[in-house]
Amino acid sequence: MSTQRTAVVTGAARGIGKAVALRLAQDGNKVAVLDLDEGACQGTVEEIQAAGGQALAVGVDVADEEQVAAAVERIAEELGAPTILVNNAGIIRDNMLFKMTTDDWDSVLGVHLRGAFLMTKACQAYMTQEKFGRVVNLSSTSALGNRGQANYSAAKAGMQGFTKTLAIELGKFGVTANAIAPGFIQTDMTAATAERMGVPFDDFIAYAAKEIPVQRVGQPEDIAAMASFFCSEQAGFVSGQVVYVAGGPRD
Ligand code: NAP
Repeated sequence: MSTQRTAVVTGAARGIGKAVALRLAQDGNKVAVLDLDEGACQGTVEEIQAAGGQALAVGVDVADEEQVAAAVERIAEELGAPTILVNNAGIIRDNMLFKMTTDDWDSVLGVHLRGAFLMTKACQAYMTQEKFGRVVNLSSTSALGNRGQANYSAAKAGMQGFTKTLAIELGKFGVTANAIAPGFIQTDMTAATAERMGVPFDDFIAYAAKEIPVQRVGQPEDIAAMASFFCSEQAGFVSGQVVYVAGGPRD
């Protein structure tokens, strides 16, 4: 049996983060379920516990340095040294560049990039001490450019550079860092995009599926499967990689 580790998943109250948290628990890890609202994490925690796993709900804004420090300290005390981290928390504030506000820009880069920076900095202290660590960052096919997403695409491209640098700096401590770049995944985030565009979500999904080589949109479990591999003991020689999980070479 492999070592039971403590995994931290941000934005895990729903969507991709929830599926990743459930999967990492299924893999035998204790899981800290982080989201803005601690109460909203309870559903994920209860599902993990019902399946016989161990989980902890933690309310935290990943872009807030003090909250992150307190959250990671609490996780270390209650679950043990966090040596697996999935930086998944994310928001969108889409708009064409000429209409995008400075706040739209700052809040998106704040959650994705500043959030991943703060969470990783806090957790790497434990990982380097334990001589084992797995960092998985959520990028996106939008990193390649996407109309209406100057802020989000910059953040998601930034996640890729951040990942590669982590891999270079932390490799000698047994820590790997990899990024997953999902294409269209059926979650509240893509539902919000459909709503903003005034298209029923089912039509939006059907239209997107036609453009994807495997002829379907992704599910949160598709991303969880990739995260599970990156976080596993056997993935120790895979680092600094970006895997597009998009049903084809691009979305
Ligand atoms: P989602 O359903 O909107 O879930 C995102 C979660 O992150 C929410 O629970 C949200 O909390 C939480 N969150 C937002 N800001 C936070 C903060 N400052 N601190 C802590 N938690 C915060 O999104 P998703 O579709 O699962 O996406 C998950 C990740 O995958 C994101 O990084 C996203 O950019 C990326 N991604 C998604 C897709 C896709 O097609 N869905 C494609 C490519 C990449 P609240 O509910 O309180 O807002």
